[in-house]
Amino acid sequence: MTLPIFDEHRGSADPERFDPSDWTHQVRHAVTSHKALEQALDLSEQERAGVARALAGGFPMSITPYYLGLCDRHDPGCPIRLQCIPRGAEARTVHGDLRDPLGEEAHEVAPHLVQRYPDRALLLVTDRCSVYCRFCTRSRMVGAGGGARALAQLSGAFSHLRAHPEIQDVIVSGGDPLVMSDARLKSILTELAGIESILYVRVASRTPVTLPQRITESLCRTLRTHPSTWLMTHFNHPKELTPLSRAACARLSDHGIPVMNQTVLLRGVNDHADTLEQLFRGLVRSRVRPYYLLQADPVRGTSHLRTPLDTGIRLMAELQGRLSGLALPKLICDTPGGKGKVPLGPDYIVARNAGTTTLRTFRGELVDYIDPDQAS
Ligand SMILES: *Cc1c(COP(=O)(O)O)cnc(C)c1O
Repeated sequence: MTLPIFDEHRGSADPERFDPSDWTHQVRHAVTSHKALEQALDLSEQERAGVARALAGGFPMSITPYYLGLCDRHDPGCPIRLQCIPRGAEARTVHGDLRDPLGEEAHEVAPHLVQRYPDRALLLVTDRCSVYCRFCTRSRMVGAGGGARALAQLSGAFSHLRAHPEIQDVIVSGGDPLVMSDARLKSILTELAGIESILYVRVASRTPVTLPQRITESLCRTLRTHPSTWLMTHFNHPKELTPLSRAACARLSDHGIPVMNQTVLLRGVNDHADTLEQLFRGLVRSRVRPYYLLQADPVRGTSHLRTPLDTGIRLMAELQGRLSGLALPKLICDTPGGKGKVPLGPDYIVARNAGTTTLRTFRGELVDYIDPDQAS
């Protein structure tokens, strides 16, 4: 794939040739300027306003050449553009918007460690991503400049995990932990593997979607540093399931790393049953399990990308019966304030009478289920 947009980087100012198959080149040549973006896309006024705002400080813009290549040059309604190109509407704050929607700062139990459940914790190892998704829950902190946290900066978190053996599940997130080097990732996973009470580790990364070149053989071996590492990724649209990203998922699975997907429900991107059906079927075909469909968090400046809660419930009703349980994720609302995740869905119970429950099937038929007689 040739990306003429990067010709300027190949000039005398930057003698390094852009090698699209090298993930570090993808990161180094990520588009962060208005000029480079204008060369690649016919920007709308809304987008120009958004880019100007992002460049003026605050929540930054970064797009890998690979992900930019998935954008439709002419259509600002392109589902990829909606996810990665800033819009003027980001300046708008509506009732209910929050800076830190999941109350992560209030739930920080040690530096960079967030705990909202008794058995699990979230370790934020970097503030950097290769692409900054415009609906990011952590837009308050990502790209703020801290970069990857040194092992010493995480020592308080590791001590906390050692002192709290009830924490058996650690989610390594950020930022995107896979934008760090293999060596840095290995040192973190080695620490976690040394804490016996941690039974499994989830690495949360969007690189299979935005930077599939990152999923190298060496990275897959590094991920196996902990004997039970799961990879949680984030595909939102079937267009993202390219041959490269499908190969990245296959490589992870071939190395024995289960891959799960968390989709965020986004207005204009994937708020249609046909789109979600194609996405979820494509994921299972790629051996990726659709785990959650997440109601978008009420992050300030994202109301233009969010749907009402009812939309997700209606979509789940449309997909029930149409898709196997293997392809159908749970619809989740992560409650504002960090009170935890709540599963949502259509109500299939029509009536409850003593010992008999009337259920509605996906075809709309009503069927009675008779409970066993507990007296006998
Ligand atoms: C979402 C989240 C988890 C994980 O939830 P699961 O339902 O186990 O996937 C854990 N900790 C925090 C802080 C979270 O935000």
